[in-house]
Amino acid sequence: MTRFIFITGGVVSSLGKGLASAALGAVLQARGYKVRLRKLDPYLNVDPGTMSPYQHGECYVTDDGAETDLDLGHYERFTGVASRQSDNITTGRIYSNILAKERRGDFLGATVQVIPHVTDAIKEFVTADLDDVDFLLCEVGGTVGDIESMPFLEAIRQLGNELGRERACFVHLTLVPYIASAGELKTKPTQHSVQQLQSVGIRCDILLCRSEHDLPASARKKIALFCNLREQAVIPALNASSIYEVPIAYHREGFDREVLRHFGLPQPEPDLGRWTEIVRRLQQPEGEVEIAIVGKYTDLLDAYKSLAEALTHGGIANSVRVKLNWLESEQFEGPNPNYESLAHAHAILVPGGFGERGAEGKIRAVRYAREKRVPYFGICFGMQMACIEAARDLCGIENANTTEFGATSDPVVGLLTEWVRGNALEQRSENDNKGGTMRLGAYECDLAAGSHVAEIYGRRRIQERHRHRYEVNINYKDRLEKAGLRFSGMSPDGQLPEIVEIPDHPWFVGVQFHPELKSKPFDPHPLFTSFVKAAVTQSRLV
Ligand code: GLN
Repeated sequence: MTRFIFITGGVVSSLGKGLASAALGAVLQARGYKVRLRKLDPYLNVDPGTMSPYQHGECYVTDDGAETDLDLGHYERFTGVASRQSDNITTGRIYSNILAKERRGDFLGATVQVIPHVTDAIKEFVTADLDDVDFLLCEVGGTVGDIESMPFLEAIRQLGNELGRERACFVHLTLVPYIASAGELKTKPTQHSVQQLQSVGIRCDILLCRSEHDLPASARKKIALFCNLREQAVIPALNASSIYEVPIAYHREGFDREVLRHFGLPQPEPDLGRWTEIVRRLQQPEGEVEIAIVGKYTDLLDAYKSLAEALTHGGIANSVRVKLNWLESEQFEGPNPNYESLAHAHAILVPGGFGERGAEGKIRAVRYAREKRVPYFGICFGMQMACIEAARDLCGIENANTTEFGATSDPVVGLLTEWVRGNALEQRSENDNKGGTMRLGAYECDLAAGSHVAEIYGRRRIQERHRHRYEVNINYKDRLEKAGLRFSGMSPDGQLPEIVEIPDHPWFVGVQFHPELKSKPFDPHPLFTSFVKAAVTQSRLV
């Protein structure tokens, strides 16, 4: 029997509800329970695929090709449970489904309304496709009081009623701010937030209080009194120096115990060994490497969330601290670029990206890494830029470019209009909608015998997640290979270049997919482990 834990947020946004949900999932797992996590997003986009990473952070892609909220990345990294299309829904998708039904006439003349039609659709989503897990943790995006969240709160209120207290638990995450002039933590915003939740009919069972300072017993008592809770159900959630400390901190504060108590479930001792080992390695590294990330969305680090985490995982695997140096690629453009900022990097990475701005700077960064023999990792756009760089500099194809930036006489990277997925042919055209039409999700890739990547993976067939519209043009393969760029990973039908590498270089790999999406702190991705290891070697040379 699946029990439902609904996680809402109050007072302010960005308190880390996604992380809180993920970490709770991890501790429940450590107690031996099976979990699944899911997110309800109140905005009107059908999915975050069309939203700018500047505004919304990274778009996380699942194996089944869904473009989802970055919180799903936290869920996977903390629990290892692969997310699916059925784990993230937005108001936009709910409405788009309902309106399509309405046009088909499926409502048989009924007036279509928020209650019950929208709320029913939300409830159906929350309760579908559960795999018989012990707990479904369902995070509601936004903060209580937002107009947009109302239908979601109403739907979970109804569900709470239908399931009963023994199958539904409401967790509310709030902020307890420290007011320096008063020298005190203030509980009033939390009280108001709980009242607001109550005004829509939701009685909070467990309160998670984010705060920068220790929550004294008096504050905990006061919150409990005013919010109609037992003191033990008011859980302090202090800032942690690493997100991977959070599962242990939650357990220490009794969060998982309260959840299990709420449901009247047994409380087997948790096995938190994997988390203590991760924290130990993070706190006591045996060295440090610096990795330069040459990108475009470097102001908002959430834009590269999974990437930053995967590099940290590579550090955990090698017992070193990985210092990330985020560099805006445009600084390497123009007649006299200054490479000073790359000079002390022990490795260089060009991540995924879209659009022409900054692309020439990325190509320059690739050239720097190739010529100076600094380990280079190109991910998606970073692989495409590496191929263009090689075509221009090693093959002398001056006009080598990608059609993403407009027509070109030498489309080394071109729009993909047809490809095979499993046994099906997928087709696209220039004028297709932008939403949901990229090559998305997990695809297989065959690694060449004796290649560097085959050695890194220790396997010949891999499966990785994609999210791109353009592809390295196979027609340039022979010329590029003659010039020293090996196409070491191909789609099983041999049509799509998936990985390129330079055998005569300490570490130079470009991949068309996003390996960072599958890395976990307790199971670092082999490419990141190997890349960070190469950075460690490099750090001993300079
Ligand atoms: N803009 C490129 C494409 O669409 C790369 C995308 C990416 O890096 N995710 O193919």
